[in-house]
Amino acid sequence: MSETLPIIVIGAGIGGLALALALQRRHIAVVVYERAPQLGEVGAGVMLTPNSNRVLEHLGVLADVEKGATRPSRTQVRHYETGAEMSTTDLGDAFTKVYGKPYYDVHRVAIHAALHRAVLANDPGAIHVSHDLVDIADNGASVRAIFANGASALGRILVGCDGVRSVVRAKLGVQDGARYTGNLAWRGLIPVELLPAHQRGSEITIWVGPNRHVVEYTIKNGTLKNYVAIANHDAWTEEGWSVKAQVADALHEFRDWHQDVRTIIAATPPDTCLKWGLFDRDPLESWSRGRIALLGDACHPMLPFLAQGAAMALEDAVVLARCLEGNNDIAAAFARYQTARRERSAWCQLQSREAGKLFQRLASREQLDGDRAERGRRLYGYDAATVEI
Ligand SMILES: Cc1cc2nc3c(=O)[nH]c(=O)nc-3n(C[C@H](O)[C@H](O)[C@H](O)COP(=O)(O)OP(=O)(O)OC[C@H]3O[C@@H](n4cnc5c(N)ncnc54)[C@H](O)[C@@H]3O)c2cc1C
Repeated sequence: MSETLPIIVIGAGIGGLALALALQRRHIAVVVYERAPQLGEVGAGVMLTPNSNRVLEHLGVLADVEKGATRPSRTQVRHYETGAEMSTTDLGDAFTKVYGKPYYDVHRVAIHAALHRAVLANDPGAIHVSHDLVDIADNGASVRAIFANGASALGRILVGCDGVRSVVRAKLGVQDGARYTGNLAWRGLIPVELLPAHQRGSEITIWVGPNRHVVEYTIKNGTLKNYVAIANHDAWTEEGWSVKAQVADALHEFRDWHQDVRTIIAATPPDTCLKWGLFDRDPLESWSRGRIALLGDACHPMLPFLAQGAAMALEDAVVLARCLEGNNDIAAAFARYQTARRERSAWCQLQSREAGKLFQRLASREQLDGDRAERGRRLYGYDAATVEI
């Protein structure tokens, strides 16, 4: 009987919506439950590397996302004080040729909205908002999701796509194990007309200095500058990444940095200046139990230094949908999913830690170049739609 029940997806973030779309495209019934009363997304930039763009194309939404994307010309690493260029990677046509898809910088809202629209176009009743999962009952033959509003839903399986503080992960009995990394991050979004002409280019710039680094790039067809500024800081308890912050505090933190960095921070409209503490977790040993599995940040939350969190959620979604297609043996499907995905996502989790350390200890050009080359080799060519599972 359970074969006729839909798949329950908890969380309508990038991972949950991508999974819903990947299942719909395989004619597998799916319903998404989201805690928030309406679907809106946090305003911030996301780098979409070729592996992400391949997934978005497979899901049929790449053209939609591309409309507001900036195509960066290159990544440059610059010295925090002198501004000297320490390493550069071309992201132009030669890069696209090697990895098969371009590199884009986009507004998160653009990815989220494109996925959302596509899921609802396939099934207008596929997403239920104001459904905050509080409990799960797996009876072996089916699984029931129980929500704070008193509703419940019966499904064939349940996939927790409920982000870094996943309730589904807690219900599986997994210890959270979150550790504050000693890094605090500020971020902001600035209309480019508030910046001097030489700071409006399409390149991605990573400013590196002792115990601090800053990443900046433009999104929305080059009209908005997005930045994240990270600094070592004392204990911090709040993990959410949307705590209101003061521009003056961020500016003080980077007071001895290059003028270009200070110009960007100083131009931040106060309502877009936010901060958050960076927490880290070790890779999970097991991604599922019975009829319940995890995906995206709920499964492998990672520091943002490799820009691969959304990429891993997108890849998971397509691989899990492929594992479930035509397969009523849930245990076998979940085992295939974990085997196909765990090593890669764990590598990203661990490498994200290392990338942060590399930026904050003024590494040599050789180390910076070597790091980026290795990253490209391992990450960008991956195709979730065809990889062996
Ligand atoms: C500053 C920053 C920059 C980043 N830059 C990049 C980048 O350049 N490239 C990249 O690939 N990645 C990047 N990432 C990572 C990326 O944003 C995340 O990895 C990705 O959004 C994870 O998607 P998700 O769907 O797993 O989780 P989320 O996007 O967190 O979605 C989880 C959803 O579940 C819902 N939910 C939570 N609990 C419940 C519940 N109990 N019941 C129902 N619903 C619930 C939430 O409301 C939310 O909608 C960045 C992250 C940060 C913080």
